[in-house]
Amino acid sequence: MPNMSLHKNEMPLQAPEVRRHNFDEVALGYSEQQAVDEAMRCLNCKNKPCVGGCPVSIDIPGFISKIKERDFEGAYQVLQAQSSLPAVCGRVCPQETQCEQKCVRGIKGEPVAIGRLERFVADWHMQNATAAPQRPAPNGHRVAVVGAGPSGLTCAGDLQKAGYQVTVFEALHTAGGVLVYGIPEFRLPKAIVQKEIDTLKALGVDVQTNVVVGKTVTVDELFEQGYEAVFVGSGAGLPRFMGIPGENLKGVYSANEFLTRTNLMKAYLPGSDTPISRAKKVAVVGGGNVAMDAARCALRLGAEEVHIVYRRSDAEMPARREEIEHAKEEGVIFDTLTNPTKILGDEHKFVNGMTCMKMELGEPDESGRRRPVVKEGSAFTMEVDCVIMAIGTSPNPLIRNTTEGLQTDRRGCIIAEEDTGLTSRQGVYAGGDTVTGAATVILAMGAGKKAAQAIDHYLQEK
Ligand SMILES: Cc1cc2nc3c(=O)[nH]c(=O)nc-3n(C[C@H](O)[C@H](O)[C@H](O)COP(=O)(O)OP(=O)(O)OC[C@H]3O[C@@H](n4cnc5c(N)ncnc54)[C@H](O)[C@@H]3O)c2cc1C
Repeated sequence: MPNMSLHKNEMPLQAPEVRRHNFDEVALGYSEQQAVDEAMRCLNCKNKPCVGGCPVSIDIPGFISKIKERDFEGAYQVLQAQSSLPAVCGRVCPQETQCEQKCVRGIKGEPVAIGRLERFVADWHMQNATAAPQRPAPNGHRVAVVGAGPSGLTCAGDLQKAGYQVTVFEALHTAGGVLVYGIPEFRLPKAIVQKEIDTLKALGVDVQTNVVVGKTVTVDELFEQGYEAVFVGSGAGLPRFMGIPGENLKGVYSANEFLTRTNLMKAYLPGSDTPISRAKKVAVVGGGNVAMDAARCALRLGAEEVHIVYRRSDAEMPARREEIEHAKEEGVIFDTLTNPTKILGDEHKFVNGMTCMKMELGEPDESGRRRPVVKEGSAFTMEVDCVIMAIGTSPNPLIRNTTEGLQTDRRGCIIAEEDTGLTSRQGVYAGGDTVTGAATVILAMGAGKKAAQAIDHYLQEK
């Protein structure tokens, strides 16, 4: 009998007043019984609309049916046929705008909690599975992957499973991309990402860290070394600034730097030697997931007051609703319809305030969102001693500047075919944020998957 409750099974969470003081995971995960109970809400629709909402086409009713039967390892096998990072996706994918948005149970009530179930199955597998993944027989072809983020890791995993010898070149000292340097521990524990990477290594993927492609070795040199195709998944890690006075003061960070110091360089751990501002009053400029993560990290690092400063209204905020709600519960203050105009400094050039203007919403702009317009005479000073800019990123120009024949668009993104990832250069494929600009984990994974299929096709035909 299906479970006809209109509501999802609640996800157990750390209480806001507790979690705002620690970096432990906020969401605690379903128990076996909660997972089975939630799975019973799935009607196993014949036409599977949820699958159409998943950028990597996971057989969602298929894995949920296995949960109903308490065959959790069987459920994992269904998941991993399409996704190399299910424990990650179950935690950070915007399911509410993808698979869950298409779920028929969402018409009269809440959709099935597909993301929570995905997380449950992936975690169950990590805790219980003992068999090492089988190494495929090598087919004699070598492929290089630039960047160990979700797009590169997915492409590498799929090609390795098809018999290719894949080497991933990663600029940082740790693989994982934004999953390790950006998204904080309390949303995505790094041990989980590491386990997913270890699974890929066990398949035979060679991950070489501290290699900056374009400096240590160029894409052209990779071909000379015998790699027959290259996938570029180098992300969009170059932060944007507003161009207002005072952005060079001490105490102004890009969100990327602040989050990298906090997460990857472990500044949050007691005794860490990574320098980080332990400011009392922090302003984070922006309204996306990156802004929410920076604000919630600043709070956990001990700030007394953390403000999100966003020029549009709450309704236009691009961050996931869940992240906005969690930030509010933890005490982050939201100053919407507010835009900074100048960052103020004292005689030692440290931030000691920020002037802002209030905004109102005008006509929609090219993005379809109502354009923020300055409210005359509304200038005021916000007292802060740290400002974090989270207003977007773009791809680093290094690869495009050092690779012969690689075309990019006016935003600096590599131009690649949507279905294959093929760039203007034969044998070079690209996907993820370096092609789309800052987007999502699952879209990056989808691009890595499509490129792996196209590279396989290209090298088999060659
Ligand atoms: C703070 C933050 C929070 C986010 N939260 C979410 C979320 O909740 N849900 C969601 O779906 N998405 C979220 N995103 C977006 C998501 O993380 C990205 O869309 C996704 O990681 C893109 O994957 P990618 O593989 O294209 O690039 P990345 O993850 O950026 O990985 C690129 C990798 O390439 C490496 N690299 C770059 N240049 C070179 C080079 N020249 N040589 C070698 N290596 C190189 C980088 O060091 C990096 O490791 C968030 C992003 C940030 C920054």
